[in-house]
Amino acid sequence: MDCVFCRIVKKKIPATILYENDHVVVFEDQSPQAPVHALIVPKIHLASILECHRKDDAIWIAVLDAIKLISHAGSFSEKGFRIVINTGDDGGQTVDHLHVHCLAGRRLSWPPG
Ligand code: 5GP
Ligand code: ZN
Repeated sequence: MDCVFCRIVKKKIPATILYENDHVVVFEDQSPQAPVHALIVPKIHLASILECHRKDDAIWIAVLDAIKLISHAGSFSEKGFRIVINTGDDGGQTVDHLHVHCLAGRRLSWPPG
């Protein structure tokens, strides 16, 4: 299977990695939509949030740990940030490997487009 995020997880193609633990890799989005735009990506291939089940609880704990860690390390925990999981065509998902966007560094509008 030719999955771009699996290739980044396995270090087969480069990315600016901000943080890594047993379950997730965090790297900069190649097309940032805010001054901070990180992707939190499970190391195992799950096509979307719909492929996640209770047995995958360790991944979500790792996602929470990563969000808190990068928000403090990047000094945007106080001003705020947005977490997004695009899912499916209407959700705007373009990479079919589950990923959590973390956007920060500017005032983000609502509702999203
Ligand atoms: P989605 O649209 O699926 O929610 O988000 C996919 C994100 O992955 C996009 O924001 C896109 O810029 C980013 N992306 C796609 N391919 C690559 C890549 O090869 N490297 C990096 N760093 N980001 C990527
Ligand atoms: Zn993958």
